Amino acid sequence: MLQALASIVGDEHVLTDPDLVTGYVTDWTGRFTGAVKAVVRPGTTEEVCTVLAQCYQEGVAVVPQGGNTGLVGGGVPRSGEVVLSMLRLDEVTDGHDGMLTAGAGTTLSGLHRAAAGRNQFVGIDTSARDSATIGGMVATNGGGIHTVRFGRVRDQLHDVAVALVNGTHLPSILVPGNPAADLWRRVCGSEGTLAVVLSATVRTGRPAAQRLVTLVPSADRDVDALARKMMVLPGLWALEVMGGSEIELTAAMLQRRPPATAECLLLAELRGAGALDDQALTAIGDLDAVVATQPSEQEELWAFRHNLSLAVRSLGTPLTKVDVSLSLASIGQLKAALATLAGEPNAYLWGHLLTGPTGHPVVNAHINITADVQPDIVFDIVEGLGGSAVGEHGVGVMKRHRLDPEAADTAELIRLKQRFDSRGLLNPGVLVPDRGRSAEQI
Ligand SMILES: Cc1cc2nc3c(=O)[nH]c(=O)nc-3n(C[C@H](O)[C@H](O)[C@H](O)COP(=O)(O)OP(=O)(O)OC[C@H]3O[C@@H](n4cnc5c(N)ncnc54)[C@H](O)[C@@H]3O)c2cc1C
Repeated sequence: MLQALASIVGDEHVLTDPDLVTGYVTDWTGRFTGAVKAVVRPGTTEEVCTVLAQCYQEGVAVVPQGGNTGLVGGGVPRSGEVVLSMLRLDEVTDGHDGMLTAGAGTTLSGLHRAAAGRNQFVGIDTSARDSATIGGMVATNGGGIHTVRFGRVRDQLHDVAVALVNGTHLPSILVPGNPAADLWRRVCGSEGTLAVVLSATVRTGRPAAQRLVTLVPSADRDVDALARKMMVLPGLWALEVMGGSEIELTAAMLQRRPPATAECLLLAELRGAGALDDQALTAIGDLDAVVATQPSEQEELWAFRHNLSLAVRSLGTPLTKVDVSLSLASIGQLKAALATLAGEPNAYLWGHLLTGPTGHPVVNAHINITADVQPDIVFDIVEGLGGSAVGEHGVGVMKRHRLDPEAADTAELIRLKQRFDSRGLLNPGVLVPDRGRSAEQI
């Protein structure tokens, strides 16, 4: 088997040495890890398909992997699978109508650089941009910094090329009559369980000439009303929520003074093609806000947000990291409930805001608790507040048992899994529920 794989991708791209596979078998949090048969690093679409066909023939399960920044255990092996690393497929080419087609292994930073070189802008962005790949973002239907403006990844995609489990190459899943047309609705967010994403064609826009970044203090009880006002500002490109203790923590790590103190803060970015919108500037002028107009000041304000994960990690305590989504109006109740957890650990919370189904602000919240806490305890709290255990990071291994197999979306996923991967060789144990099995049993 390993010889056959080496004959497809070359000896140097089939890794089995424990020292060499270590970065591929454990996730970013260090929480999920498992045995691997080999890490295979194909360099072309054809090699990906041939590797898949070989594994299919031998009945070997495959875990597709991008930058391994996923936070729910979906991209690392569990019990002797082949890890299919997509990182070498990182070419960006021009599509029609100014769109860009990026190989699945292109990092978001690489995609942004390619777009900037063409005087274009891509709205898919997160603070994991230097490692997270477009393939991983498609597979998780990721959110990110510009979700409030452009939606999630699915909203920004024009097409994707995929390979099926047996190595069949589908260069476009939008072509009419394509046997996999059903995949279009679900491949985004299928977390490597239905198909391997080979490339994605994404929409682009013109980069905005003018920017303004602002940090607006608030109380927890007022932040929902404040966010509603900010969400309708013309030119809004990003809206983030974080707490005062989160800012203080990052400030300490960055050795800077916190730019503002409050129970809760909103960080917003506005952009304009020409001048910034007057109405938006007046509205911000009326707030007691820190306003950054110069690029260096703007980067400094963003640094408080982008470094939050590192700042929490630098505490060196055990860390429970979960992402959830809930109404911003419930953030005070969530903080209060987290404060009552046994042992009273610190809970740090931040996230991107987006417009919920009824127009209300929703936060895709990243919760970091400085203790080993059963994630289900947090999920129960969030669901008790009307939120969802599934945020923008996906389901992976961690939340699979929280899905209701009878729910329409999950039932469709199970149906597609039976159709496109009936032998269960693509990312087994991830996302698609096995009735009655919990994450701990996997
Ligand atoms: C500091 C930090 C900040 C983050 N911020 C955000 C954020 O703002 N928004 C957000 O949505 N996420 C965020 N994440 C989570 C993570 O970056 C995203 O889930 C991202 O999409 C993962 O991309 P990746 O290339 O690292 O994928 P991986 O971690 O390698 O894989 C993630 C999942 O996608 C599957 N997969 C990967 N590539 C492919 C492919 N080519 N074909 C099929 N399946 C594939 C894997 O099997 C796995 O199930 C953050 C993570 C970190 C560490």
